[in-house]
Amino acid sequence: MIPTITLANGVHMPQLGFGVFRMKEHTAAYEATLQALQLGYRAIDTAAIYENEEAVGQAIRDSGIAREELFITTKVWNADQGYDETLRAFDVSQKKLGLEYVDLYLTHWPKPQLVHTYRAIERLYDEKLICATGVSNHHEHHLEQIFAVANVAPMVNQIECHPSLSQDALRAFCKEKNIAVTAWAPLGTGIVFTHPIVKQLAAKYGKTPAQIVLRWHIEMGNIAIPKSANKERAAENLRIFDFALQVDEVAALTALNTFHRTGADPDNFD
Ligand code: NAD
Repeated sequence: MIPTITLANGVHMPQLGFGVFRMKEHTAAYEATLQALQLGYRAIDTAAIYENEEAVGQAIRDSGIAREELFITTKVWNADQGYDETLRAFDVSQKKLGLEYVDLYLTHWPKPQLVHTYRAIERLYDEKLICATGVSNHHEHHLEQIFAVANVAPMVNQIECHPSLSQDALRAFCKEKNIAVTAWAPLGTGIVFTHPIVKQLAAKYGKTPAQIVLRWHIEMGNIAIPKSANKERAAENLRIFDFALQVDEVAALTALNTFHRTGADPDNFD
């Protein structure tokens, strides 16, 4: 059973979800999503730019899982930022997904129009087309711009986070503002898997390095959305709820932070 995080508006979001980035090919995205749902994932993280919303929607329908059991996130791409543009982009995403509502809609990256983009997301929330509002890759200063105009604060900030980029300051800020943090690249593309501390914890708990890192996210209160088209790995990533790391072990993993980004810094993203 995957635990949930309660968002600021009371909506429950699974703490572990399945990411579908770099799965453009329809059949591959469809099969990976359906497989994930059959394995037990209930949250799917897609985006307009991933070009797989149709495949994800098809997999959701074919899974036969009741809609209310699922938590579907998608994101407005940079080229569609702005108030009217975001409303139009949402309409396209909603149709591609074939869903009456989307659980969480995010601004993918902060752009100069971020405030107008977010106001459109608020409108979608008011119209009950989405269950929760959010942003992605927003630093504190981007969030401050939103707070200055928002009626409803973002409920989620999806940011790159893993032991090599533990995001202590931004996570603390989000916690203070009651914004849940979703970690993208939660495995940090595997760069800490060979670290002695990770290997030692893996041996102690009889788990893989990936499971140790994912469990670290759970202990930190993050939502994690690992991706794997490989069935064994996708299943392995789910088996993290039968053990717990101790406080000092969590701290030792957090101390691996080297501010190493696998992706762009949001302040320098085109
Ligand atoms: P990830 O941390 O999920 O790493 C994926 C890589 O790890 C893949 O190469 C996969 O084969 C491998 N892997 C997965 N499980 C493994 C296991 N058990 N053992 C060993 N290797 C394993 O990183 P990601 O795919 O970049 O990010 C996950 C999701 O986050 C994406 O699919 C997407 O939904 C989201 N994302 C969001 C943004 C954003 O800007 N908001 C950016 C990137 C990714």
